[in-house]
Amino acid sequence: MTALILDGNALAQKLRADFKTRADALTARGAQPGLAVILVGEDAASQVYVRNKVNACAQAGLRSEKITYPADVEPQRVLTRIAELNADPTIHGILVQLPLPRHFDSDAVLAAISPDKDVDGFHAENVGALMQGHARFIPCTPYGVMKFFGEAGIELKGKEAVVLGRSNIVGKPMAMLLMQANATVTVCHSQTRDLAFHTRRADILIAALGKARFVTADMVKPGAVVIDVGINRLPDGKLCGDVDFPAVSQIASAITPVPGGVGPMTITMLLANTLEAAERKVGRDG
Ligand code: NDP
Repeated sequence: MTALILDGNALAQKLRADFKTRADALTARGAQPGLAVILVGEDAASQVYVRNKVNACAQAGLRSEKITYPADVEPQRVLTRIAELNADPTIHGILVQLPLPRHFDSDAVLAAISPDKDVDGFHAENVGALMQGHARFIPCTPYGVMKFFGEAGIELKGKEAVVLGRSNIVGKPMAMLLMQANATVTVCHSQTRDLAFHTRRADILIAALGKARFVTADMVKPGAVVIDVGINRLPDGKLCGDVDFPAVSQIASAITPVPGGVGPMTITMLLANTLEAAERKVGRDG
């Protein structure tokens, strides 16, 4: 079997065409959607992610404001700026690029963002709403993964779904969404015994560990759908995922590549959440 390649660039392009129409409609009403992106420090990967987000906003007709601070900035300065952005009617979404430098309390920073503008969906109030089944903002990466299933007509009801990784930004919300879609979900992490026992049972396997080519073909059930969230840089500078793509794509029924899979969808869903926030505000203001 050769797997169907779930093309994140193609799906992102399809979704973003509609976003441009929605953004233009808001702009015509004097409410251009606006996203503020806060970047602290000089982490190379974070700089690339922020640049990609800012460019994606421009292409989809959203306004973005990039706010940068040196790594040693006093956290209070960032908190004060977030308070200003919370009150700014031209800003509908606020995003703080993670990870923050060690002297920051990341939870306190995320808690400072107004839940109505928390387009990453990381505020505790939004995490709780997601868990209760009435999400206000779905975290962008798992949201993007769910779009692949919808687009490819992959049924989740009753399926065995295994999520590798339990982070707050990927693994946990991913598990919650799969459960809400009526899959039977197992979450694995670094303390899981016999990981392959779990992965071999998976009809739907989500790899989000951050370990290059960790998931090998012998760990995958023939015909499984494999979603590779991982982004790892190899010594030669190239990117690869958490899945051994050449081998696993020979036995899976569908698989996302890296690059060109989940990555473009993550940014796309950030745009979706920002648009949604702007449309809600316009709806509230009348
Ligand atoms: P974290 O480092 O926060 O979490 C990694 C998770 O993997 C942890 O729960 C950890 O377990 C688990 N893990 C690590 N090693 C093993 C192992 N050997 N066996 C089983 N579980 C293990 O990472 P993130 O969730 O933030 O990101 C995961 C990957 O996804 C990274 O490569 C990241 O770059 C990528 N990513 C990609 C995005 C995209 O848009 N494509 C967006 C966000 C992230 P424990 O909890 O026990 O430590």
